[in-house]
Amino acid sequence: MAVDVRELSPEDLRDQTLGWLAEQLPVGWMEAVDADDEDAFDVARAGLEYSEWCVRFGEAGYATPTWPSEYGAGLSLLPGQAKHVNDVLSHYKVPRPFNIIGIGMGGPTVMAWGTEEMKHRLLKPLACNQEIWCQLFSEPVAGSDVAGLATKAVRDGDEWIVNGQKVWTTLAHISKWGMLLCRTDPAVPKHAGLSYFVVDMDQPEVDVRPLVQITGDAEFNEVFFNDAHVRDDWMLGREGDGWKVAITTLMNERVSLSGAGSIGGDAVGGSPVARLLDRHRGTKDPLVRQQLAQAYIESRLIKVNNQRAADKRKSGGEAGPEGSITKLQQAEFNRRLQNLAIDLEGVNGIAWDGPGLADQVRASRQLRPGTGESSIVQGFLRAQANTIEGGTSEIMRNILGERVLGLPKEPDASRELAWKDVPRSA
Ligand SMILES: Cc1cc2nc3c(=O)[nH]c(=O)nc-3n(C[C@H](O)[C@H](O)[C@H](O)COP(=O)(O)OP(=O)(O)OC[C@H]3O[C@@H](n4cnc5c(N)ncnc54)[C@H](O)[C@@H]3O)c2cc1C
Repeated sequence: MAVDVRELSPEDLRDQTLGWLAEQLPVGWMEAVDADDEDAFDVARAGLEYSEWCVRFGEAGYATPTWPSEYGAGLSLLPGQAKHVNDVLSHYKVPRPFNIIGIGMGGPTVMAWGTEEMKHRLLKPLACNQEIWCQLFSEPVAGSDVAGLATKAVRDGDEWIVNGQKVWTTLAHISKWGMLLCRTDPAVPKHAGLSYFVVDMDQPEVDVRPLVQITGDAEFNEVFFNDAHVRDDWMLGREGDGWKVAITTLMNERVSLSGAGSIGGDAVGGSPVARLLDRHRGTKDPLVRQQLAQAYIESRLIKVNNQRAADKRKSGGEAGPEGSITKLQQAEFNRRLQNLAIDLEGVNGIAWDGPGLADQVRASRQLRPGTGESSIVQGFLRAQANTIEGGTSEIMRNILGERVLGLPKEPDASRELAWKDVPRSA
């Protein structure tokens, strides 16, 4: 009789994961981690081809352990069970797919709103890192107030024609699919006139232009739609339901960005900053000791809050506004932590030799695919973005005030007006 995976104990899950890793990872990998032998680990890592690894990892269900196995890339585990699997994967420094927008947001949105055809076509290549996803919500004048967006889609037989501009679109330059929020009815209030599509980015009418950040990286892009095409039956939800579908994406985004998917890890463990903090742990300076203790306490609080969100999902609940608590905590904490790292490291924290920062970061990613390794200065420069991406800290506080504490809604004079009648700059 087949075993119901939901009956598996934590020990069974750990053993099953260990067994799979022992068969699949290059020889010497697990032994090197257990022996804390960095040189041996580098040798083992050189034997792993990242793209091919992501396919095996995804097909076995480890990239998306809570997804239903019927779509070809999940283990059908409960979130609480997935934690035991993730603990083993994190311990053995197993490379993960970088398709984080797809795994964290695209997949859950397709599972909640998509047709069976879409689930069968889209989920497996997404989990296997073969088809990268991006989120096409923000526009030059619609970021925090994303429901005010202007990119329009007009029906044309069994497809829609899209025109407009998106911005800050992470990974768009390598994406196959985009989660596209469009205005399909300008004559009704802003939230009611939106529809949500999965768009094929691989068409000449979609023009993607990378934007370079202060770190030297170009993670995000401007995206122009010039009479682009999208299939009518690849609309998620019904026409005019776009805002409801977008909320599913946004709630999952907050959970992904707050690190709830990695509750097994410790926010002060496993990063270059953690190693830095380790270096200063023996300090006699009482102020530094106090700052380190404070960082540790905050990281534990984030972990506990993430656990609370995971427990809610474990008992059948969907990602809700509690994701905004950890998103806010994580973003603000990371900024303080990176500042502390720079303060402790002094001039070493802001200077580097040899190639430019962007080259160094690129080189470190190639050497350590999927491990998210980066320099202290890169972390410092990138930390500000955490307080903006996925909704700014101010917007998180508004959500918490309104949806968790039940305070009155923020006044919005444009909320009930037909979108086309809302005053806006050209
Ligand atoms: C690294 C990074 C990656 C991103 N990736 C994506 C992506 O992949 N896809 C995507 O669609 N978008 C993406 N974004 C865009 C992001 O969602 C927006 O930048 C964010 O929602 C803020 O919008 P905005 O930049 O237009 O700022 P604005 O909305 O113009 O805000 C400007 C300032 O005003 C404050 N403010 C605005 N409204 C209020 C209010 N009601 N109450 C209090 N304060 C307010 C904000 O907090 C902010 O400080 C990304 C952003 C970053 C930084």
